[in-house]
Amino acid sequence: MDFYKQCLYVVATPIGNLADFSPRAVEVLQRVDLIAVEDTRHSARLLQHFAIKTPMQALHEHNERKSALSFLQGIESGQSLALISDAGTPLLSDPGYHLVRLARERGIRVVPVPGACAAIAALSVAGLATDRFRFEGFLSAKSGARRQQLEHLKHETLTLLFYESPHRIEDSLADMQAIFGDQRQAVLARELTKTFETIRNGTLAELSQWVAGDANQRKGEIVLLVQGAAVADPDDLDASAERVLKILLQDLPLKQAVGLATEITGVRKKKLYTRGLELKQTDDG
Ligand code: SAM
Repeated sequence: MDFYKQCLYVVATPIGNLADFSPRAVEVLQRVDLIAVEDTRHSARLLQHFAIKTPMQALHEHNERKSALSFLQGIESGQSLALISDAGTPLLSDPGYHLVRLARERGIRVVPVPGACAAIAALSVAGLATDRFRFEGFLSAKSGARRQQLEHLKHETLTLLFYESPHRIEDSLADMQAIFGDQRQAVLARELTKTFETIRNGTLAELSQWVAGDANQRKGEIVLLVQGAAVADPDDLDASAERVLKILLQDLPLKQAVGLATEITGVRKKKLYTRGLELKQTDDG
């Protein structure tokens, strides 16, 4: 294995099943001079399991910028450093952003050692569209702010990914149901790679009811995925497009009214033209 000195390794750790830890990740953690961790007590268990004796030091989240500088000075004086978080991929709803950004600004080599990430693991089994998706991390814990965030996402057509706490899953599902509608499809992925792994799909209304009726579904770690909003069909002439066309036809010739209505509504020109002709004929007749 290639191994670099004066380098920052960003190493993913398992999200539950220790067998998911890659041999390369273990070797890097054994060979670096120091491991920056989120929580020393938490990571001690992982390191002990894999016989990794490298010293650890906490990367303080509340003061990450300052804490990062001392790690970077270590690298610049010849050390190699690995960054890990409590579980999964660092920086993904986890600390490390300032450390990585400052390292790159200083021209320090930053090397990924990829592995588990709860959001990607959930997406890979959810059966929702994966070609484009939007990772939102955690929603706000406060109901008002959460509802506002969801309002902004209401018309998003990409698959939505959320991390959610078991204490808030019921409230969040209820808010999503109220804002995205009862019938929007969603997937709840809980305790991935662990003994009680559960992956359940259904409408938001079905999932809400299921979580409310089974206390076990309000335990452990959760990724919630929501299908994106339906994309408007350019052949669909809905009530609002028809209204726009009618208003324009009152003052403009057919061709001009159709041209403008196409721009305003996004509905296909041919469709608007056919409907425009019908409306004109009814008016003239
Ligand atoms: N950096 C991590 C990653 O790559 O997945 C995520 C860290 S974030 C602080 C922790 C959240 O990730 C949990 O609250 C939960 O939403 C999600 N999560 C982590 N492990 C999980 C698992 N085994 N099953 C389902 N969700 C998980």
